[in-house]
Amino acid sequence: MSSVISVLRGSLLERTIHHTSGCLKCARGEGHPLWVLTVGYPGGKTRQVSLRPEQVPQVREAIEHYHDCKQTLEAISELNQFLLRLDREESKNQERES
Ligand SMILES: [Zn+2]
Repeated sequence: MSSVISVLRGSLLERTIHHTSGCLKCARGEGHPLWVLTVGYPGGKTRQVSLRPEQVPQVREAIEHYHDCKQTLEAISELNQFLLRLDREESKNQERES
C-alpha cells in the first residue's frame, strides 16, 4: 500500500477459506488464512473488506489509533462538559452577589 492509513474504525477478523476441489492444501484440511476488516454501521449493517497479508499490520495499528483518538476525544468532551457546568455555576453566583 502506498498511502499510510492512520485511523480506521472496525475490527480485524481472521478467517480460513476452503476450496471445494482441486486444492492440495484444502484437501489436507489446512485451508487459507484470510484477514478481513469488518466495520459496523447504524442499523446493524456491516461492511467487510478483504485484506492482503501485508496490509494487516498497518490496519491493526490504525484501529488502535482510532481507539486512542476516541478515548482522547471522550476525555476532552468530559472536561468541556465540566467547564460548561462550572461556567453556569459561576454566573449563578454572580447573579446572587449583584
Ligand atoms: Zn485451497
